[in-house]
Amino acid sequence: MLDPFGKRAKALVKELGGINELLLRIPSYVGIDEVMERITWLKRGKVPPEIWGLSDLDDLMSFYALLGALAFSPYGLEMEIVKEANVKIYSGRISKQGIDYREISLPLVSFNEDEIPERDRVIIEKRLHGEISPEEKERLRLKYKMHIGEMLQFWEGNLKEIYIRGGYAYLTEDQMLELWKRAFGRNIERAVNLLYEIRDELPQYYLQLYEKLAGFAREYFKERLEKFGSAKAQPLRFDLFPPCIKTAIKGVPSGLRNYAITVLLTSFLSYARICPNPSRKDVRIKDCIKDLSVVEKEVLPVIIEAGNRCTPPLFEDQPNEVKNIWYHLGFGFTDKPSIEDSGNTPWYFPPNCDKIRANAPQLCKPDRDCRNIKNPLTYYLRKLYFESRKSGEKNE
Ligand code: SF4
Repeated sequence: MLDPFGKRAKALVKELGGINELLLRIPSYVGIDEVMERITWLKRGKVPPEIWGLSDLDDLMSFYALLGALAFSPYGLEMEIVKEANVKIYSGRISKQGIDYREISLPLVSFNEDEIPERDRVIIEKRLHGEISPEEKERLRLKYKMHIGEMLQFWEGNLKEIYIRGGYAYLTEDQMLELWKRAFGRNIERAVNLLYEIRDELPQYYLQLYEKLAGFAREYFKERLEKFGSAKAQPLRFDLFPPCIKTAIKGVPSGLRNYAITVLLTSFLSYARICPNPSRKDVRIKDCIKDLSVVEKEVLPVIIEAGNRCTPPLFEDQPNEVKNIWYHLGFGFTDKPSIEDSGNTPWYFPPNCDKIRANAPQLCKPDRDCRNIKNPLTYYLRKLYFESRKSGEKNE
């Protein structure tokens, strides 16, 4: 298979009963160790022949098994390693077998060679340069066409590098592969964001696979981890919060106060600070921290201050709302909790974006990073992850 998000793959997923059904079938179809082979070859540096030779079904099953495992950690080293290994596998296949634009997930369109004037081809493809080898000339050949609007979603380079004519971008194979890699990364993120919502319903198999994946990723990225640490619980990064949370923090009018402060802000800030990447939804605060100092010093003051910025101030006319905050943190309806009380009630998970939009549409003013995001916490996690990568690269 050339692309697990392409048309053929989609048809196969549909034939198998849809994505949820596929995820239920995978554990009885392919073993965890077999799935891990899609990743562990990275250490040896060469894709093994068994992977090249996988049938479409085997390929799809083992790839989607990895997506199911990533639902337990949508942004982190595990995601990075799955992307790295699979980009190499699929782009290697695309290079070997040639691109069938009907089979890959990029919106390429067919085109006629005559669409490009001969004189332009001579210049762009360096046809008169005798010193350039035929292989190099083949690499310079414009072979693919995509609507410019579609291309801009993925292209991050200089537009001067692209031949544009009549609203279309004409691309060489290398340029097309670059775009495909970006689209592939985005498709993985989109799929994992969807699966994140149902991770509690996934068979145990995926959690076990995730643990193996995490172990391998820690080993593979050992040097980097030793230098920069991982994006686990850390002081809150307000600058990376999604727009809905920034709006709630500024204070909101009376009709919105309870939802914005007690439901959304309390759940978001507590998870973001204490356990940004919970592997299950029934986790308790006492599973993550030993005493309440972080909650009392770093989470609660932000909630209280946001409540005070509301009009009218939330805790002035509803002093009992503080007990409700502890209730949503999982300590029961109290204002003097101890760490042992954690688990008396569920620790509320941040509501999904569609719930926020339904209950408090004024809070949701999406920015470009909200694309494909289903929950404000994954927005934050994604930004944290990219920030830690950025600073790692800078330090290096
Ligand atoms: S899309 Fe989601 S994360 Fe973004 S502002 Fe709306 S609710 Fe918040």
